[in-house]
Amino acid sequence: MTDVPRSTADLVAADRRHLWRPYTSSEDHAAIEPLHVVEAVGVELVTADGARFLDATGAWWCNNLGFRHPRLVDALTRQAASLPHCAIAGNTHEPAVRLAEELVSIAPRGDGGPSLDRVFYSDNGSTSVEVALKMAFQYWAQNGRPARNRFLSLPGAYHGDTIGVMSVSEVDAFSGIFQPLLFGDRAGAWLGETSATPHDDMGWDALFGRLYDHIEAHEDEIAGVIVEPLVQGASGMRMYDAKYLRALRAVCDRVDTFLIADEVFTGFGRTGRFWACQHADVIPDLLCTSKGLSGGMMPFAATLASARIYEGFRGDKTRALMHGHTFCGNPLGAAIALEVLATYREEQTLERSLPKAALLADAIAEMGELASVKRTRSLGMVAALDLGDEGYLSGLGWKVAARARAGGVALRPLGDTVYVVPPLTIEDEHLTRMLDVIHESVDSLGG
Ligand SMILES: *Cc1c(COP(=O)(O)O)cnc(C)c1O
Repeated sequence: MTDVPRSTADLVAADRRHLWRPYTSSEDHAAIEPLHVVEAVGVELVTADGARFLDATGAWWCNNLGFRHPRLVDALTRQAASLPHCAIAGNTHEPAVRLAEELVSIAPRGDGGPSLDRVFYSDNGSTSVEVALKMAFQYWAQNGRPARNRFLSLPGAYHGDTIGVMSVSEVDAFSGIFQPLLFGDRAGAWLGETSATPHDDMGWDALFGRLYDHIEAHEDEIAGVIVEPLVQGASGMRMYDAKYLRALRAVCDRVDTFLIADEVFTGFGRTGRFWACQHADVIPDLLCTSKGLSGGMMPFAATLASARIYEGFRGDKTRALMHGHTFCGNPLGAAIALEVLATYREEQTLERSLPKAALLADAIAEMGELASVKRTRSLGMVAALDLGDEGYLSGLGWKVAARARAGGVALRPLGDTVYVVPPLTIEDEHLTRMLDVIHESVDSLGG
């Protein structure tokens, strides 16, 4: 190690020799020039040659408060100076406890619904979902309904990349090859046919209708139903109306099974309410949160569980949830999450994002007029457009991304879907410039 900065050419060559990149073929790794980022501030990535890029990807959907928010940097350094880590097994510490209190106090709530008052910590979105599945499964196993050992999820679902959560996901480009390892009913398999994620209410009507029917017909086997509330992120920012989630809650209540809300992406104001479930006035039995939770700064996650589920684990040692991670409740992550919540409160992050969301919605709707665009959609600070229906492996989006990069905007399409997930705090001027560049880049594809 030396302190002399490496040249971009040298660094990229070493990157290609030794890094194994997520979701990237070796050919693309060799061919696509990465941005050599040396700094990030707000919505901007700064590269070694001094160029600046507006990051429309929200650093993979987690950068809700802007890079290097001074409050978060300060919270991190203060915490690191006193207690950077200690195991949560047998110990307690203020950041983890205070954060649990605050998460419980802001969790979706209402008369007669489940009360989410237990918090289990882990370190990424996939594990927060994995934990929810294990809680639901074990609850039924030790509370008299062991046949309830299957989960249902929607076609187009994405809940992460570990083996367990791939089993309830259905973005085949990600999980298809692992099929023999996966348990239970894969998402959508219960439909008896392959069904693309719908593009309109008629499609969603049919799909949710079949989900409701399936739950009622198989209630004795179903440990839980898991959904991404209102927005299916990885399958292309597919959006559905809140009424479907409301009806799903009613069906789960009717058969008394658990509704698991994966708010890893949608939480922390991304969709215009703090939790996407709140659009539907729905309280899930389990809620998974990560991404925005730690302000895009630290790997950190939490699974919120209802009092009822926790009660089902009371008793002797054999009834404990046998799950834990080295970094469960890590004080750095918890301290940042506390500061994230304080920032939302004091800077009115969500409220102040609403006019920006309106601007975003207008601009994306306008792009819908372009000859190359099939359809557009938006909700809160998420907007997307489809250039075709070829899915994740289509190259169309990448053409737009290459063009946008030349204009100073970083995009990462989902195949032929181009999406924008800016920080909730993005300045109007940056947002407008980002959208102008995307508009031009999409237009350059022609009809
Ligand atoms: C990103 C994401 C996950 C997985 O989170 P990781 O931190 O990448 O493991 C799970 N569910 C949803 C809805 C996501 O968007």
